[in-house]
Amino acid sequence: MTNSELLSRSLAAVWHPCTQMKHHQDGDLPLVPVVRGEGLWLHDADGKRYLDGISSWWVNLFGHSNPRINAAITDQLGKLEHVMLAGFTHEPVVQLSERLSALTGNALGHCFYASDGASATEIALKMSFHFWRNHGHSAKTEFVALAGGYHGETVGALAVTDVAIFRDAYAPLVRGAHVVPSPDARQAVDGESAADVARRAAGALATFLEANGPRIAALIVEPLVQGAAGMAMHDPEYLRLARALCDRHEVHLICDEIAVGCGRTGTFFAHEQAGIKPDFLCLSKGISGGYLPLSVVLTTDKVYAAFYDDAATRGFLHSHSYTGNALACRAALATLDIFASDDVLHANKARGDLLESLLRPLADHPQVRHFRRRGMILAFDVDADPGFGRRFYREALARELLLRPMGNTVYFMPPYILGEDDTTFLARNAAAALEAALK
Ligand SMILES: *Cc1c(COP(=O)(O)O)cnc(C)c1O
Repeated sequence: MTNSELLSRSLAAVWHPCTQMKHHQDGDLPLVPVVRGEGLWLHDADGKRYLDGISSWWVNLFGHSNPRINAAITDQLGKLEHVMLAGFTHEPVVQLSERLSALTGNALGHCFYASDGASATEIALKMSFHFWRNHGHSAKTEFVALAGGYHGETVGALAVTDVAIFRDAYAPLVRGAHVVPSPDARQAVDGESAADVARRAAGALATFLEANGPRIAALIVEPLVQGAAGMAMHDPEYLRLARALCDRHEVHLICDEIAVGCGRTGTFFAHEQAGIKPDFLCLSKGISGGYLPLSVVLTTDKVYAAFYDDAATRGFLHSHSYTGNALACRAALATLDIFASDDVLHANKARGDLLESLLRPLADHPQVRHFRRRGMILAFDVDADPGFGRRFYREALARELLLRPMGNTVYFMPPYILGEDDTTFLARNAAAALEAALK
């Protein structure tokens, strides 16, 4: 298919996600046809290419069509593509569970699988509630989430997602959660540090839990970076204080590391930077290297034990057809192998530092605010009209970059294979796109 054929047939037959389709029809927003991905680059049928600066919605870690992940999936394809995980097991899911638990220092000893992030959120919420019920705390039926938090868009996950554009239309369907202030460091006033903002937000959480603790099953957070809120970053101090408050009030801490896990923030798990352990850890997106739909909820042996009983109804009777898919687990194992063999976290430090130093001049741009970075996530806000984001997206595409602002927040979240020349290309063209979009 040529580009134009692909575009017209896609618009006729495919309902694209997170999109007002009329914007494509009106030609205001280009739909980008892709026929091939290789490393950092996405290629279309007309020979145009785009550097994937946002890892295809935060999922890709080691480039498109990565030879090592390809080889692992191909090998698995010849052995076992999938088998139901109720009543059956297989080597990839066993190995992956063991290795993920080991990465938590075995604090989280059991892994429950699903296929996407929203399902992982729902699993963690259900498990937390059910744990308390199995322990005779049946009043613990409510959840707390952070302002601006994002945990997926199924009806259950929307309950803890505080992003108006995703939530408002469905408000009558959604059982609301309690929302407490975000520790977003951009809220600093009068010389406050990020840690001060974190302490202030934790103070609000403390007040809330003192009044409501007995009704609360869990607090759910995106550790260090609230992605959909516009890459809102906070000090690890918040996680330390939140952990202590959860302990004091017998409330579970759910770390949603669907976006920030797998090395994104500089450590393999974001919560490591606070020196804490969650009760539930949700992973998805990068866990399969960005190849196949896979999500996992890790939890403690204590939670697991609360469900282990003769009575079926005390068990966790939740399932998805593709739970523990063998191909996806093999992709995840290959991804973990690359982390282990290539010293990825160390190399990413240099990658992130270089990207930051090349983009740093933009921090002084009169319309740029809150230039910030955590690991392999760099973002800044642009003081411009609401149409800026879409203009920037178009101007970036015109310069061979896939960068898709959220509102007026421009962010970079590249795969962990960004080389020095790529970084120069990315920084130079992003700066030019910014100028063009502000004209
Ligand atoms: C993307 C995301 C989700 C939802 O994952 P899906 O696979 O899109 O359902 C949940 N939480 C966070 C923090 C995310 O970034």
